[in-house]
Formats: sequence, C-alpha cells, structure tokens
Amino acid sequence: DATDPRLRAVDASALSITKTTSPKPITPSEELIFGRSFTDHMMSLEWTATDGWLPPRITPYQNLSLDPATCVLHYAFEAFEGMKAYKDRNGDVRLFRPDKNMARMNKSAARIALPTFDGEAVIELLKKFIKLEERFIPSQRGYSLYIRPNIIGTQRTLGVGPPGSAMLYVIASPVGPYYPTGFKAVSLEATDYAVRAWPGGVGASKLGANYAPCIVPQMQAATRGFHQNLWLFKDIDPETGKEEDFVTEVGTMNLFAAIVNKEGQKELMTAPLDGTILEGVVRDSVLTLARERLAPQGWKISERRFPMRELVEAANEGRMLEVFGSGTAATVSPVRVISYQGKLVNCGLPDNEEVGPIALQMKDWLDGIQYGDEEHPWSVKA
Ligand code: PMP
Repeated sequence: DATDPRLRAVDASALSITKTTSPKPITPSEELIFGRSFTDHMMSLEWTATDGWLPPRITPYQNLSLDPATCVLHYAFEAFEGMKAYKDRNGDVRLFRPDKNMARMNKSAARIALPTFDGEAVIELLKKFIKLEERFIPSQRGYSLYIRPNIIGTQRTLGVGPPGSAMLYVIASPVGPYYPTGFKAVSLEATDYAVRAWPGGVGASKLGANYAPCIVPQMQAATRGFHQNLWLFKDIDPETGKEEDFVTEVGTMNLFAAIVNKEGQKELMTAPLDGTILEGVVRDSVLTLARERLAPQGWKISERRFPMRELVEAANEGRMLEVFGSGTAATVSPVRVISYQGKLVNCGLPDNEEVGPIALQMKDWLDGIQYGDEEHPWSVKA
C-alpha cells in the first residue's frame, strides 16, 4: 500500500543534482517541433514497496535501463501528465495550476496500482528542475517548456499484480506555439465505430494505455481529411428514452460548444466528469473563467451531457455559435466542422475566420494568466 505511513514520503530536501558535462545547444525557436528535443537533465524518484519514496535525483538526460521483463513493458503500468512552464516578461518562470496535474497524476497512478505521492513535494522538485533548465525556455510569447511527468511500474516480473517498485520521472521539451501563424480551425470526425471510454472504465485517467488504441481511428479520420476524432458515447437518454450519441471529448482535448439554446439563452456547454472524459486542467479553467466573467453577461455555463443531435439542430436552426477544444497543447483550438453520419455539421465560424469570439477571449484570458500579465493564484512562480 503506497499510502502506508510507515513508508517514506517524497522528501524534496533530499534532492541530489548531477549536472551534465555536455550542455546541449539550444534549438532555434522557429525550428522547435513538439516533443522532439529535450533539456539537459531529467528528474527521477524511485519507489519500493518496502521503503517508499527514495531520495529524488536530477541527472543528465539519459536512457533508462530496464530488464525485458519489467512490468510496464508488458501490462502498461504507466500514467503521465502534460503541463507547461512559461517565462513572464520579467524572466521569471511560471507553472500553471501544477496542483491540478499532481492531483490527476495521483488519481491515475492509484487506478493502476502504482504508488501515490505528495503532490506539493513533487511541485517543489519540479520548480528546482525547471529553474535548472531555464535557458531552454524561449521567452517569446506563445513559447513554453512542455513538462512530462511519467510514472511507471519497474518490477521485474511477468506475474500480473501490483508493482513492487516504481519510478516517477520528469523530462522537459521546449515548445513553440501550437498555431505559429495564428489560429487554424480544425475539422473533426465524430467517431461511431470505435469507443474511447465508457462508464466504469479508465477514460478519466491519464494512462498511456488510453492513447495507443486511439491512433488507428485517428489515422482513418485523417485519410478522410479530418484532423481529429470526436469521441461519442451511445446511450439512452433517460428523459426521452431514445438512444443518443453523446459528445465526450476530442483526441487530446476536451470539447466546448456555444449555442443559443431552445430557451433563447446563450449557453456554453461541455461534457460532465462522468468517468468517460479526462478532467482537463484547461477545461476546468475555461469553466471557472466562464462562470466568473461570462455568466454575468447572461451566459448559461453548463457541464452536462449533450448529444450530437443537439449540435445538428442548433446548426440547422441558426443557433450554433462556436465549438472549440481545450487542452494544454493549444489552450483552445477552434473547430470549423464536425462530420457526423456522413454529413458536415457547420460549427458557426464564418468562412474567412479561424476563431470565434469565445475561444479568442478564453485564449487571451488564459495567456494573460499563464504568462503572468495578470497576477492570478493559478500562476505559480518557480
Ligand atoms: N483529453 C485528453 C484525452 C487529453 O489527453 C488531454 C490533454 N491532457 C485533455 C483532454 C486536456 O487536458 P488538459 O486541459 O489538462 O491539458
């Protein structure tokens, strides 16, 4: 039991640092490709069922050495996170809501019998790590350092059971803006032949095992000219007794739709946290900002199930305002069309525009907080 109080907790003060003797050249900002180049170092922490968390280490970025029988390689004992560090105009480095990522990672790890950890202590370690890698963080607006915490089961065994040892490690990759030349609205294929997640499943956990099975449907959507899958979940609507295709989330984003509802009110909606979608940090941030800043302007802000039929009707009746994805990579990603049952549902963007006003407003608000222009408790200085 990873929460056994007799086991050692993560001790950030025990960090040892071994610096690289061959610092890497900095990739010119305009040549950055997502997730291709990494910083000089990595941070790692090992855990054993008998001792708990061992002293954390920062070492030169290096290969892992794993026995071919290591359980992660067979049974997918792996959970990860994706977060970013931003450089503000004073040159300070800032994390965005790191507590949310740590809480989600603990939930994901616990779901697959990996040890949990003190999120605050790991945030302290993350701060030390990114301060050390500061020179890799481009200072231009839109650029950031993508941080990838990963936790794996390291026990050498083919026995299927809870791993007796694990490793949490963190690597970091400088990244450019998702849309280097301005927003580019995407097109989605509503997928009905494959299901990403289901009630009682693990769709709400950030497990590597949730991602690999989505690549073939993604490739199939791409052959038909669509950027991403929109994952649906077929279920009976208890109110009508009819079967519906409920909207869940996109490839690596949560989905928001803004419509004028049947009552004539502007409504911004996203799927609820019912276990079939990831609890996006940006999703929560968009909802919070919308409740604080859009609701007073008359908007209804909803976390509720909604079927594709509702979007089709809104589009057909001129009530569709805009649709966008939310996630750490792009912050917001405008959607132009959704292909559904062989027809294209127009998401309300005029032909000559790539982003709608709500997505643009959210991006501005979130950029302002992430880059420290607006002092906000969500932005945490390293
Ligand atoms: N859904 C999935 C499946 C994802 O991989 C991600 C990216 N982590 C998101 C949603 C968005 O989450 P976040 O806002 O925390 O980046």
